[in-house]
Amino acid sequence: MKEIILIKNGELVLKGLNRNTFEDVLIKNMKKALRDIGEFEFTKSQSTIMVESADGEADLDDAVDALKRVFGIAALSRAAVAEKEMNAIKATALEYLREELSLAKTFKVEAKRSDKKFPLKSPEIARELGGFLLSKFRHLSVDVHEPDVTVTVEVRDNYAFVRGNNIKGAGGMPVSTSGRAAVLISGGIDSPVAAYMMAKRGIELVAVHFASPPYTTELAEQKVMQLLHKVARYSGPITVYVVPFTKLQEGIRDKCPEEYFTLIMRRYMMKISEILARKQNCSALITGESVGQVASQTIYALGCTDAAATLPVFRPCIGMDKEEIIAISRKIDTFETSIQPYEDCCTVFTPRHPKTRAKLEDVVAAEQAMENAEELIREAVENARRTVVK
Ligand code: ATP
Ligand code: MG
Repeated sequence: MKEIILIKNGELVLKGLNRNTFEDVLIKNMKKALRDIGEFEFTKSQSTIMVESADGEADLDDAVDALKRVFGIAALSRAAVAEKEMNAIKATALEYLREELSLAKTFKVEAKRSDKKFPLKSPEIARELGGFLLSKFRHLSVDVHEPDVTVTVEVRDNYAFVRGNNIKGAGGMPVSTSGRAAVLISGGIDSPVAAYMMAKRGIELVAVHFASPPYTTELAEQKVMQLLHKVARYSGPITVYVVPFTKLQEGIRDKCPEEYFTLIMRRYMMKISEILARKQNCSALITGESVGQVASQTIYALGCTDAAATLPVFRPCIGMDKEEIIAISRKIDTFETSIQPYEDCCTVFTPRHPKTRAKLEDVVAAEQAMENAEELIREAVENARRTVVK
């Protein structure tokens, strides 16, 4: 029996972005996601995209698993292909859905007929197939409101498709339909979640990570690469810059008032990230900040950090509780990596009493002690190491 995957795309009623562009980008992203699984053919047809193995050999379990992480897909389903003839449709449904229907208590049949020459109308197809399945699965009953299994038959131009329940897709919009942004990625829980959330809105990711050897180790950096690898399963490949940050941090420690250490450091992070972001044609920065989580994330502190950047800063976790962020990090499988205990540059030289009600003019004044900041920033940018994480 021939089996294919049917894709229902997500937010198509998009202002500005036409359906064709959206679908073309989606298909390109699906191809990339399926690259290691086999060669697939894609056919746009009405509001669905059909995906089939080019040689009929590819493992569809693996394919579905990969496609579940592709943004822009609202729902997907596997379907059996049947001849356009009622007896063939019945036989296919019986064989193809045997297991699903055996485990169910209730079901219903929905039929769609785009080929108007097919002799039965949609309600007749549904009634006839429903009656047939009831006669074969005696334990089943019909529930039109909340069935365990919805059997769908679509009669199209060349074939009929028979399928069981839909599988939920990743939602969102295809990556790279919304431009690019640079995410400031630490080894923590929040920033990978922030990266995932913006990729979900169709944004292509670039990443910036600040490392302060010898205060931070090679292992901390590897952890960040692992996190990005997990995010890349959703976002596609991520260009990442690892920025040497030690000199700036030591400068801040030696010259600035302790209560402002973290804020000044975060402002330099924003400035450097912005320079790298612009190099990569990014139109925004992304951070994992959430109001009130730590002293550097009070609304006063965030105001000071924000002012260091001219690009818009997206903070998708801003109104979320830690528990909510953790739930997402578990879903995207970054949590276990994030909680490995390596030093982040944010945790070196932390002030004992950080300023929580910081005023921008005070921070800027405190920053003046860093008279060679411009030069250190330029050096950090020049020495940033660039790699691509897949
Ligand atoms: P996370 O869990 O993402 O580390 P956090 O709650 O620990 O966040 P902070 O350490 O204050 O918060 O960092 C706030 C944000 O600053 C992070 O979400 C991230 O976007 C950015 N950030 C922190 N440390 C780094 C770093 N070493 N390199 C790049 N960005 C960083
Ligand atoms: Mg952190």
